[in-house]
Amino acid sequence: MTNQMVGIEINDLHLSFGETEVLTGVNLDIQPGEFFAFLGPSGSGKSTLLRSIAGFGPTPQGSIRIGGRDVVNLPPWKRNVGMVFQSYALWPHMSVRDNVGFGLKERKMPASEIAPKVDAALELVGLTHLADRMPNQLSGGQQQRIALARTVVVEPEVLLLDEPLSNLDASLRVQMRRELLALQRKLGLTTIFVTHDQEEANTTADRMAVLDKGVIQQIGTPQVLYDTPENLFVAEFLGTAN
Ligand code: ADP
Ligand code: MG
Repeated sequence: MTNQMVGIEINDLHLSFGETEVLTGVNLDIQPGEFFAFLGPSGSGKSTLLRSIAGFGPTPQGSIRIGGRDVVNLPPWKRNVGMVFQSYALWPHMSVRDNVGFGLKERKMPASEIAPKVDAALELVGLTHLADRMPNQLSGGQQQRIALARTVVVEPEVLLLDEPLSNLDASLRVQMRRELLALQRKLGLTTIFVTHDQEEANTTADRMAVLDKGVIQQIGTPQVLYDTPENLFVAEFLGTAN
């Protein structure tokens, strides 16, 4: 699985649902190969921002460049992004192997080329031995690893993760975030990881953006945000106000 690393530049992004402006002028510059976290409370606009990058939902005002190309008016399948959600959403009637290969089959790739790519993706998440299982025979953690394999198998340029570990129990979550980071490093895949869990952001992110009410409050390394929060919201959210 090869990958050329791309950056993401977002300029003055606005998005409203009816009268309510949910993204109010977001500016963001994510470096090629970076593991970047969006951290913020529920309702702060993390998913809306991520979905805008993926191309789901209404078209925002402003620009989103992926690898220098403005994608804001492109449909999701032309953006070279892969997204993993909180719920794994595997096809229940398809084996693990067929779930992982589904995106390649949709792209009309011949079966003889799909098989080795699926094998490589399953190896990447350490689940080669489960290739012939059905999703309902897998644990939550295994299902989420398969969802990840299914996403990276099509070789996206950007990996978007919306609270992918939130449905897992606490100890598994810690293990899986290590695996996720190792996989991201191995692939060198520019990644945005959405979470409301500050420890999850801290232990994974190269840099993070703290959001509140659709506004980025601060961007920086976890260390910088903890040591020098720029405002009361960041300080309080990170639990460092005193
Ligand atoms: P987060 O992921 O940080 O919890 P969201 O991006 O899901 O936040 O939501 C941000 C705000 O936008 C919330 O106030 C939410 O109610 C609103 N919102 C999100 N999606 C829609 C939608 N499809 N229609 C109307 N309002 C929405
Ligand atoms: Mg959300």
